[in-house]
Amino acid sequence: MSHVNLVTGGAGFIGSHLCEALIERGEEVLCLDNFFTGRKANIQHLLGNPQFELVRHDIVNPIVLEADRIFNFACPASPVHYQHNPVKTIKTNVMGALNMLGLAKNVGARILQASTSEVYGDPTVHPQVESYWGNVNPIGPRSCYDEGKRVAEALFFDYHTQNTVDIRVVRIFNTYGPRMLVNDGRVISNFVVQALRNQPITIYGDGEQTRSFCYVSDLVKGIICMMDCNDFTGPVNLGNPSEFTIRQLADLVVELTGSRSKIEFKPLPENDPSRRRPDISLARERLRWSPVVSLHEGLEHVIAYFSDLLTKK
Ligand code: NAD
Ligand code: UDP
Repeated sequence: MSHVNLVTGGAGFIGSHLCEALIERGEEVLCLDNFFTGRKANIQHLLGNPQFELVRHDIVNPIVLEADRIFNFACPASPVHYQHNPVKTIKTNVMGALNMLGLAKNVGARILQASTSEVYGDPTVHPQVESYWGNVNPIGPRSCYDEGKRVAEALFFDYHTQNTVDIRVVRIFNTYGPRMLVNDGRVISNFVVQALRNQPITIYGDGEQTRSFCYVSDLVKGIICMMDCNDFTGPVNLGNPSEFTIRQLADLVVELTGSRSKIEFKPLPENDPSRRRPDISLARERLRWSPVVSLHEGLEHVIAYFSDLLTKK
């Protein structure tokens, strides 16, 4: 059956790759975005396609649209962007989830929430399993995002229990790829852009904190598997379990770009999680999904992307 998919945040980094993959499956896509961190350029190549429509809208406000599948991705994801206007970030997460769940309830759509590894906060369980409840500071600089996403999960499960809304919840771990913004502020785009410009690579803290990086094509496959899966609400972790220190990442980026950049240590932001790695046993078992793109290979794609972008400027 061909679906009509509403993708909120569809002009953003992950959202635009998701729109593209759904179009390639022969499905229809309503891409909704307020262009806070998204760009028309990300979806420019889809604009003339009859399967694709673009709606400029802010999910903080209700909207009525006909769709049988909703992917709720609208929310700035980089700490720099989500901390720019924390109240708006909470509103996007909480009121946005309420509006999209209300829509799903009214039109009988299946709805998937882009949740995050940030619901685990600075985790005391490693690697992180879905049954872990997390360690989040409710009043810190990251709480507008972390707590917003936690409330959104609660809303999803309450709408499921109380109103039998057909929900899916994925907890996405650090994902990277082409279409990240030059000024995105997240570690991979920062390091690659700095290396290509031969500017200092800014490591926050001592660089011993870890992250596990998933290439966007792997993630999008996992998201679609989850949406297609029957009788499984999640939450399910989606990410690449290969774990690296930030120092290792900096060294790899310098090596792959052949950059003359030096490392510069800067203060560690408050509440920066010290370790992060997904346990993806549940995704392997229920979705038969696991990532295939290594950090080395994914970085090569991202380096080529930013290199092209920076030469065009
Ligand atoms: P992004 O900032 O590139 O995309 C977010 C998109 O949402 C943008 O197009 C932005 O303009 C749009 N948006 C923001 N607020 C909106 C609003 N109020 N109304 C309508 N549109 C709005 O970020 P991304 O990395 O593509 O992340 C997409 C989703 O995935 C987010 O919900 C994020 O929390 C989640 N996620 C991403 C990662 C990651 O590593 N990239 C990890 C965990 C979760
Ligand atoms: N980081 C860094 N230099 C940068 C940007 C980020 O050392 O220029 C660190 C950051 O402190 C964190 C890790 O890299 O420990 C991942 O940061 P990012 O903002 O990409 O994602 P998140 O912290 O949300 O996982």
